Amino acid sequence: MDTIQKLNEEPVFWNNFKVHIGLRRLGECLGPFIDEEITAFHDRMKQQCGSAPCEKKCEFSNWDSTCNQPIPPFDCEVCTTWRDEIRTHHSNQNGKVMWTNSKPHLWSQDKWQVAKVYMSNGHKNHNSLGDFDIAALLCLMNQCKHFEKFKLRGLCEEVSFVRNSIMHSPNYQLKQKDLDNYMTRIRKLCKVLVKHHPNFGSLSREIDEIQRLDLILFARDNQAQNKEELEDKLVAALEDNRKAKKTEDLLRRKVKKLEKTLSERDEEIKTLRFSCKEKLQAVKQKVIDDIGMKVVKIREKFQQEILQEAIIVICTKMEIFLLERALSKNEAVLPDWPGCWDS
Ligand SMILES: [Zn+2]
Repeated sequence: MDTIQKLNEEPVFWNNFKVHIGLRRLGECLGPFIDEEITAFHDRMKQQCGSAPCEKKCEFSNWDSTCNQPIPPFDCEVCTTWRDEIRTHHSNQNGKVMWTNSKPHLWSQDKWQVAKVYMSNGHKNHNSLGDFDIAALLCLMNQCKHFEKFKLRGLCEEVSFVRNSIMHSPNYQLKQKDLDNYMTRIRKLCKVLVKHHPNFGSLSREIDEIQRLDLILFARDNQAQNKEELEDKLVAALEDNRKAKKTEDLLRRKVKKLEKTLSERDEEIKTLRFSCKEKLQAVKQKVIDDIGMKVVKIREKFQQEILQEAIIVICTKMEIFLLERALSKNEAVLPDWPGCWDS
């Protein structure tokens, strides 16, 4: 079946599913722990506020939290006392408190009516542990000061983030790095809770196993005649899936190797380019030096030619001087060019 085959070839789909399984296991372990803790919390509240029931059947029907009344008023001593004590234990006293989740006249009788005030909105009709999802339990642990003693320090918010991300993930997909990150967040919470309740003893290891699970979707084949035939088909499907995974792993390793080779070649090209640049610079410098030398030689040669000309001129004038001296019968006549005899 194409749909199943496509899903089996989509690790991102299975990653998303694995986080659902992890959160579900966490919720299963949290249940008994929270039940015990809320019982203890409610017992302590009863010691503070008394266990007398509300005789007036108080409710929130006449209270509008949007008006200037952030705290619900009661014309009843029992509910007023409980309300104030519940608020004292809320970590967000100045923020929005979900009073309307609960039935105030049951506060002294029903622990979950108290616990619901510390949860997010939407639990008005939920009345027992099994009615609350993991988001509600995490919110309760985060907002009820009774849980501060466990030093969870933001771990509940981290797992709430995981839960919300999974619930809103587009196309029910999750990248591998997000799966690793989300499972780490769940494990971190388990590692703190295991110090306080045996329920969480093996949960970290379980989360590890869930993270590494090799999952495959198999549709029950109605054509199978008996249990043995169904098992054969399941084994064959698992074998096909194993082979496909093996090929996928092989291809992934090849791609990694190619990427590594490409990266090394890239480095070689960079080195070569640098070496060529250096050589080019040396050649350029040599050409400049050669031209410079030639210019110097030309200048020297040019200067020698000027000197020769000057010597010829001097010699000529000396000859004329000597000739004139001979003709003037030993009368001394100095040559007429200026500066010639100055020194
Ligand atoms: Zn009351």
